[in-house]
Amino acid sequence: MPTSAAFRLLGADATGSRERALALSADDTIALIEGSELRGRGGAGFPLGAKMRATRTAAEVSGDPAYVVANAYDADPASPLSRTLLERSPELVLGGIVIAARAVGAREAWLYLHPEATAARSAAEKAIAAVARHDDGVSVEIALGPGGFMGGEESALLAVLENKRAMARQRPPWPAEQGVRLRPTLVSSAETLAALPLIVRDGPDSFSGSGGSRGTKLVSVTGAVAEPGVYEVSLGTTLGEVVQTAGGVTHALKAIHVGGPTCGILNSTRTGVRYDYEDLKAAGTYMGSGQVRAIAEGTCIVAEAARLFEYLSKETCAICVPCRVGTKRVRGILESISSGLGREDDLKWLGELADHLSDFSLCGFGITSASIVRTTIAEFPDDYRAHIVERRCPEGTCAPSRSRRYETMAQP
Ligand code: SF4
Repeated sequence: MPTSAAFRLLGADATGSRERALALSADDTIALIEGSELRGRGGAGFPLGAKMRATRTAAEVSGDPAYVVANAYDADPASPLSRTLLERSPELVLGGIVIAARAVGAREAWLYLHPEATAARSAAEKAIAAVARHDDGVSVEIALGPGGFMGGEESALLAVLENKRAMARQRPPWPAEQGVRLRPTLVSSAETLAALPLIVRDGPDSFSGSGGSRGTKLVSVTGAVAEPGVYEVSLGTTLGEVVQTAGGVTHALKAIHVGGPTCGILNSTRTGVRYDYEDLKAAGTYMGSGQVRAIAEGTCIVAEAARLFEYLSKETCAICVPCRVGTKRVRGILESISSGLGREDDLKWLGELADHLSDFSLCGFGITSASIVRTTIAEFPDDYRAHIVERRCPEGTCAPSRSRRYETMAQP
């Protein structure tokens, strides 16, 4: 299993990183992070160094104070990556927050948690007390999100920190320019920030890997595997190896769902796809929440897609039409198909709705959800054909959830 011997987050010892960080200027720190090519682990993969530089520049130009928000919310309940990291290496997350805050010129920072993450919260409180004792000029507070999937979205969490409902914002302006209270704000995942103490102490070359995907990534391996749990793998590890990390499959594999509830499902023939930003995108899915779910033979993929869109149509923040309406329409069509009421042109409608979701949604929730439609139709055509043409579930598992087809006025 090709994990990095030099760089690991879980259980890492950050000794010496604070002293090294204090000896660096803000510019030197940002240059070091840029040199490491560290990319955001929260799903989008944006380079952290560029985000830090943009935040610092915006604060200098505007004269406003800058802020830092470490997103440890874990929106996907099946992928508790930040909780695991905080429980096992809280000082790494807090060290990263302080390094980032000093580099962008922030004196205030928030660690943003899910309200149910009680063990992670207690671990974080102890680490925050240690930060306060050091008095490095940065005050860190815990902020709790509202629960629900959208509470973890980058711009929705800014609304929560301003005591508003968790709804996404139009971007640009990006949080680096106008974040909390419309002031320059560095928003990054706790996992991304946790890499900073190690990069600062050991240098950017401690990060292994090549191309645009370097270092390690926490993954939550779930489903039909022997030992489900949170693991740390090198970016570039194949999906098959990721599944092996969790003890291998317990049943013959039909599919691998990569990225959590908003992301695509790949055929089991794709175990050679590398778990990195570029290969996953080329395969039609994303890193998303960091979940990798092994789906066993005997599972109907149409039913899987319908179940995901049932969840998404309830969790959408509903502020933009493509997602508010699109997730419900996709859900309705998928449920019609799984109930034996599908028609061949439903696949065309699903494709059009996926285009609307990906092209016009306001945030990653709607944009990435299109990948569920596209991957399941492209990779599991037999499941759709069996339902639509042969009027049967290919696995014999689908019970009708609708007695009438879902129709809209737009459909002929
Ligand atoms: S894409 Fe969905 S979740 Fe995101 S802003 Fe639009 S309605 Fe809200």
